[in-house]
Amino acid sequence: MLYLGCHLSSSAGFKAMAETAVKLNANTFQFFLRNPRGGAAKDINADDVRAFLNLAEKYKFGKILAHAPYTLNPCSKDENTRDFARQVFADDLKRMENIPGNLYNFHPGSHVGQGVEVAIPQIVEILDEVMPEAKHTTVLLETMSGKGSEVGSTFEELAEIIAKTKDNAPERLGVCLDTCHVYSAGYDIINKLDEVLDKFDKVIGLNRLHAIHLNDSMTEFNSHKDRHEKIGEGSLGLEGIIRFINHPALKGIPINLETPNELDGYKAEIKTLRQNYKD
Ligand code: FE
Ligand code: FE
Ligand code: ZN
Repeated sequence: MLYLGCHLSSSAGFKAMAETAVKLNANTFQFFLRNPRGGAAKDINADDVRAFLNLAEKYKFGKILAHAPYTLNPCSKDENTRDFARQVFADDLKRMENIPGNLYNFHPGSHVGQGVEVAIPQIVEILDEVMPEAKHTTVLLETMSGKGSEVGSTFEELAEIIAKTKDNAPERLGVCLDTCHVYSAGYDIINKLDEVLDKFDKVIGLNRLHAIHLNDSMTEFNSHKDRHEKIGEGSLGLEGIIRFINHPALKGIPINLETPNELDGYKAEIKTLRQNYKD
């Protein structure tokens, strides 16, 4: 089963996102629980959630994916920024209890000169604090491109964070693989997909791979940049992306597009990908 969707605006609520997804022929989606800059979250309305759950059941949706605000940096040098991260993280996970059984993805953060050795224990400390709030949610670390001082651009760094976190069963704490990011980070998922997935399995474990961000990239392989491109218009290319989504190890993992598109563009990409997917 191909669970394929895209990033949607949450401004009109869960039911509206599900309705939009259905129009796009999507059966999952990604969204922000609050303004991506980290502002106040909107109240979750029980009727809206119920309407969403009905639609999700009717159209056989896969798990949906909430994305943490971009300003959430658990390994900032600044203590206030880390405090903000722990508050927002915990609050988001509490909100996720309204839609149990889904996924919450965050960027491990940028260490801004402190070094990875300082950053990793800070990320672990915050995870240890917030994981108790994730009673029915799987928390995911996103694979990063390695721009600036980003942590999490290697499988080893992600594995170390997971290993050091106390509450880290594979169904509790996992990874969201972003195709643009890993390709920019130097993992050749276009020419050496088997090798990269083998490495992922050995270092992190494929049982921890719970979500995929499907993006092409504006920059070349190993660029350590983070510039998403429309599917088929970047350095990854359509052929390689089609091989990627059809890899047997990735079947059933929810995939969300974060390409520079409006809804029409997403609809066209979803159509192309579905046409080229072999069940
Ligand atoms: Fe992200
Ligand atoms: Fe992403
Ligand atoms: Zn990105």
